[in-house]
Amino acid sequence: MTADPTIRKAVCPGSFDPVTNGHLDIIGRAAQLYDEVVVAVLINKTKSSLFTVQERLDLLTEVTSKYPNVRVDAFHGLLVDYCRANGIAVILKGIRAVSDFDYELKMAQMNRGLAGIDTLFMPTNPEYSFLASSLVKEIATYGGDMSSMVPDVVHARMLERIEEKNRRD
Ligand code: ADP
Repeated sequence: MTADPTIRKAVCPGSFDPVTNGHLDIIGRAAQLYDEVVVAVLINKTKSSLFTVQERLDLLTEVTSKYPNVRVDAFHGLLVDYCRANGIAVILKGIRAVSDFDYELKMAQMNRGLAGIDTLFMPTNPEYSFLASSLVKEIATYGGDMSSMVPDVVHARMLERIEEKNRRD
């Protein structure tokens, strides 16, 4: 697809299993900077997940509905191929701590080398710097309170899912 240079599009990629308040902070701020923000869920069949890709897309659609210029999508394969196919010039990544930067810098340089697609880093709001989907899942699994870490609808769906899993196991 040829990119329309007048429309500035960015992609926020990730697993979003599930979307947290930290992700939403970055998505909301990105929505103010770009004409269109695509939240792209990576389809990774080798990684076990709490929510299916479709469930993650549905939750993301719900919690980003207040941003008219944000849309959600799923992709597999290389992120740069997805960007090229969709006329996206910028990958936007949230940085929680220096430890994120080490890995993200390599990815950014690789993606720039592969396809000339730039990555921009946005420091997270410090209140979310410890927040990761994996941690939220771990806390929830052991009955901890993670209600302040995820949107209400995600909180409710997580409690349901964990109860379903516990009943099965
Ligand atoms: P996680 O790293 O939380 O397990 P993802 O793979 O879904 O989850 O994260 C996707 C992207 O979202 C990360 O690469 C990072 O750019 C951003 N991100 C994740 N958590 C946060 C946070 N707490 N604050 C800001 N950005 C975040």
